[in-house]
Amino acid sequence: MAQTHKKEVQNELFAGFCTAYKSFATEAIHVGQEPEQWKSMAVVPPISLSTTFKQNAPGNHAGFEYSRSGNPTRNCLEKAVAALDGAKYCLALASGLAATVTITHLLKAGDGIVCMDDVYGGTNRYFQRIASTVGLEVSFADCTKPNLLKAALKDNTKLVWIETPTNPMMKVVDIKACSELVHEHNKDIVVVVDNTFMSAYFQRPLALGADICMYSATKYMNGHSDVVMGLVSLNNEDLYERLKFLQNALGGVPSPFDCYLCNRGLKTLHLRMERHFRNALAAAKFLEADPRVERVIFPGLPSHPQHEVMKKQCTGCPGMITFYIKGKLEHATTFLSNLKMFAIAESLGGYESLAEHPAIMTHASVPENERSVLGISDTLIRLSVGLEDEVDIIEDLDQALAAAHPKKK
Ligand SMILES: *Cc1c(COP(=O)(O)O)cnc(C)c1O
Repeated sequence: MAQTHKKEVQNELFAGFCTAYKSFATEAIHVGQEPEQWKSMAVVPPISLSTTFKQNAPGNHAGFEYSRSGNPTRNCLEKAVAALDGAKYCLALASGLAATVTITHLLKAGDGIVCMDDVYGGTNRYFQRIASTVGLEVSFADCTKPNLLKAALKDNTKLVWIETPTNPMMKVVDIKACSELVHEHNKDIVVVVDNTFMSAYFQRPLALGADICMYSATKYMNGHSDVVMGLVSLNNEDLYERLKFLQNALGGVPSPFDCYLCNRGLKTLHLRMERHFRNALAAAKFLEADPRVERVIFPGLPSHPQHEVMKKQCTGCPGMITFYIKGKLEHATTFLSNLKMFAIAESLGGYESLAEHPAIMTHASVPENERSVLGISDTLIRLSVGLEDEVDIIEDLDQALAAAHPKKK
């Protein structure tokens, strides 16, 4: 009885979305983790801290020379992530931004980058304030309207940077449509999808035509808010060789300990993402029905403008919700200050629920006029719904809304 009920809830949750990727959980648990690769036959990959590896004769070694160029624990993680992205190759970097910088080094002065107009604040800052000062031509386009992306492509465009759903406005981009039109313009343009918000469990950009899938693994992929890391997955061998060279030559590599933790986090990715989806959908429905809330933006709700695109290209929806509280800045700050279980904090994708104010916190580095065009107003609140009990999540939101909008006596 309970079992049947559970199945129905599960089916309803995923109704209309793409079916889950075959053998995802099995691969998350086993690929790259083979005990036979270690003399000890360790079932859990050891943390290999040695910075250097003994050679039998100069140049004759067992595959490792120096830990920046290659590390056994990092290899386990990279193999697992490649499998989960349906990719041939993966590279781990020291942070999501280190991944972005490494990818951007594929370009040379004079080359052009077209970036989705609503992206992670740090991506925007890197492209506008650093990449553009070293000779790269950066422009922004709203990729939810593929014709605007098409119009932004130029002869010198070498990189197209897509984020979906976007941060914090949750705009959803049709990855297949954009990849196709970009490659029609020039097949050598590298299309990158920042897949941080979705994780490998809910979206496979490479299968939709993108050239590179990148993550801030700091978020859902590690999932435990205790590692800062970046990941890059791809199928193209030539691009992989160039990025592998850059990983070593630029040196933005993660520590073996962080690789161990992220590799461990992946073992429960499928379980975590399903629970994030279930909790977030319940919270989004609660907020949408609440008179103290102006508007909820959650791609898992039919009210989301790109809900159909989401269902067409994803296997589920992560725990990120953006909403406008009714009132002014003070209502937003009162709401946030009164949350008891949700912590006011930047970042997202961990097991714990977090809430933040994008205009003051994560997106403060986006110029104010651009923020207002994007809709990042003073009443905008972003939630990362965690893995706690659904009733406790809703109860916390309810009491904080009550504090922001007290009933008149
Ligand atoms: C956090 C984040 C990044 C940057 O990653 P770091 O690991 O913090 O360097 C990039 N893109 C998105 C969507 C993010 O949320």
